[in-house]
Amino acid sequence: MTEDVNLAQGREYLAIPGPSVIPDAVLRAMHRASPNIYAGKLVDMTHSIIPDLARVARTRHNATIYIGNGHAAWEAALANTIAPGDTVLVPATGIFGIGWADMVDGLGGNADIIDFGKSSPMDMDRIAEALTADKSHRIKAVLAVHVDTSSSVRNDIAALRRVMDEAGHPALLMADCIASLGCDEFEMDAWGVDVTVGACQKGLMVPPGVSFVFFNDKAAQVRAAMPRVSRYWDWEPRVNPEYFPQHFCGTPPTHHLYGLRTALDMIFDEGLEQVWARHRRLAQAIWAACDVWAEGGPLRLNVADPENRSHAVTALQIGAPNGTALQDWVAGNLGLTLGIGLGMAPRGDPAGDGFFRLGHMGHVNGQMIMAVLGGVQAGMIAQGVPHGRGALDAAAAVIAGK
Ligand SMILES: *Cc1c(COP(=O)(O)O)cnc(C)c1O
Repeated sequence: MTEDVNLAQGREYLAIPGPSVIPDAVLRAMHRASPNIYAGKLVDMTHSIIPDLARVARTRHNATIYIGNGHAAWEAALANTIAPGDTVLVPATGIFGIGWADMVDGLGGNADIIDFGKSSPMDMDRIAEALTADKSHRIKAVLAVHVDTSSSVRNDIAALRRVMDEAGHPALLMADCIASLGCDEFEMDAWGVDVTVGACQKGLMVPPGVSFVFFNDKAAQVRAAMPRVSRYWDWEPRVNPEYFPQHFCGTPPTHHLYGLRTALDMIFDEGLEQVWARHRRLAQAIWAACDVWAEGGPLRLNVADPENRSHAVTALQIGAPNGTALQDWVAGNLGLTLGIGLGMAPRGDPAGDGFFRLGHMGHVNGQMIMAVLGGVQAGMIAQGVPHGRGALDAAAAVIAGK
């Protein structure tokens, strides 16, 4: 038995799926006196941010910024397209799909949910069936979560568009890319997405506070036919600002804009494709370690097929109460915070203690991922959770490109 020493002192590491690690350069950019909001640098900078956001979402269409978190962007997208009494189809692969559907309900619309459970991607055949059965085209929009952050399922949005086209269905395709923007490949225009929703605190590496809605001409036509749109959420005045504050319907998010400008510069300096490739490789290192741990104990990747896994978040099952115990131990002893097992069991259900998640989105590199994996392994040793040997070697080999 060695002496009981706490090893938490040092730089903390928040390895949860948002908010993500904030680069020092972003923090420095935000650390300044309040700028003039009516003229000068802030105004010019905002005009440069809008097209760069569209570049990250891979669209030549409209980009808007809202002050608010991801839920705000969800509501903004719906407020411009869904009137009371309208129906949407929601193929859900985790609690974020269910949450977006619930917002439709709050706005007086009807959400038809197809629930694909918490570890499988959308089944396109079932969606095709639902669309084909909708002869009167009652469904006005299909709400798809690209990466559901609770389950870490990644869905094939291009395939969803093909299914909608084959069914000859005119509904809008709306995609929640909050957990994938700036992490996983996402091609709004090439994949035929009409409305995309994003937020700043995940792949975009900025503290929570601003979110984004991208929309194309088809979505703009749906907006134009709405009986009314509430003033704050209306995207129309935001895309063609006569004068600058109009874009935000009031005071702009001054310091967030500085942070966002720097974060976008970092993404384009690295190269968006390279950013995606970095996330893919780091995710593969995590999966390699998990596969080895799984050989000798209860730990399991939530999503079986790597093709259907997010490159930015990994949900894991380790058997109750190991998940919560592991999170508590690494936080208290190593200064490492892991993500909770969000929505994997009903609230208060002890089975929920058997899950946890790793966030690996945004400003993360090879040594950070090795540190997270080392921390998880130390936690399993401390908690007496059996696990296969050699997981860190397997991850290191992936990181080394071998
Ligand atoms: C984080 C997240 C949300 C919610 O964003 P908030 O900023 O917490 O409101 C919605 N959808 C997905 C896929 C997310 O990852």
